[in-house]
Amino acid sequence: MTRATPPSAMLEPESSLVENAAPASATAAPETTALSVDVAEEQLSAETTAANKKLDYPEEAQPLVFNWRYAIPIIALHFVAALAFFPYFFSWTGVALAVFNLYFFNMLGITLCYHRLLTHQGFVVPKWLEHFFALCGVCCLEDTPARWVAIHRIHHKHSDEQPDPHSPLVNFFWGHVGWLVFEHREHRHVVFYEKYARDLLRDPFYFALERYLLWLWVYLGHALLFYLGGLAIGWAMTGDVWQGVQFGLSILIWGVVVRTVVGWHITWSVNSVGHVWGYRNYETRDASTNNFVVAILAHGEGWHNNHHADQRSAAHGHKWWEVDPTWMTIRLLEKVGLAKNVIRPKCLRKEAKA
Ligand SMILES: [Zn+2]
Ligand SMILES: [Zn+2]
Repeated sequence: MTRATPPSAMLEPESSLVENAAPASATAAPETTALSVDVAEEQLSAETTAANKKLDYPEEAQPLVFNWRYAIPIIALHFVAALAFFPYFFSWTGVALAVFNLYFFNMLGITLCYHRLLTHQGFVVPKWLEHFFALCGVCCLEDTPARWVAIHRIHHKHSDEQPDPHSPLVNFFWGHVGWLVFEHREHRHVVFYEKYARDLLRDPFYFALERYLLWLWVYLGHALLFYLGGLAIGWAMTGDVWQGVQFGLSILIWGVVVRTVVGWHITWSVNSVGHVWGYRNYETRDASTNNFVVAILAHGEGWHNNHHADQRSAAHGHKWWEVDPTWMTIRLLEKVGLAKNVIRPKCLRKEAKA
């Protein structure tokens, strides 16, 4: 069953998502097609008032108190990922799996599902597929769908001003990971999720993920499956159980742990680098930028200035050379009939209306 009418159309965050898309300046607004406009004409200076602004820590995060529930797993997993440097935990299969899983889990789960589908409703897919993608997102250990969506919606509503939860205008570390490892009082309240992710929590699937640490069991369960799969294959290929154990551990460390940690930094870079370094196509009210390196690593999410200017669009690359693998995947899903109501960039929407 496809979700014909985005439920959040009735909710406060939805309207704010649309309204908060700051209009492109007269010089930046492409009147023909965003994918074919002249690049030089469109690129604006990154020297905006927002970019030069300095921001204080969010009020709800002051005074700064360590959030151990986040800090400990983040620090611990970095140490576990460092095991990848020991030859015992290395295998080329593990490395290849890490690269593949970055595409599979992080792109399908985080950029395609958590971000473009659940937060911004740039398209719809059948519920069973949406839930599968959401589980891929849970396997990235970037919080539950409802929490991720709520925090991202408030980021768009108040980008680079109070109370943006992770603006790098506070400082780069804060925008990257500091906002996660320090307490934010508002994020602990149910009211916050009710306000910003009510549409998700009405779905029993997403509601269940919030309860009984189900999200944690999903993450640990997928990690165990990778380990056992590696162990079985290694054992079967060598006939030696201990070589099977070693191969299984290389799969676990590279395919799950290294991939999780690298995936974190890629997502965090969209929040940090994506509001500091790069060029701007649109004169948005925030400091968002388009950054080629982040775009490549984050499957198209690095075209962050385009995204802030046009949040509903399922495509983040607005010029032909702004490569957007997530958009390519959404187009593929549309072609095979699995993605519907796919929202094109604003300029194309205007063209269609005219
Ligand atoms: Zn967004
Ligand atoms: Zn942003």
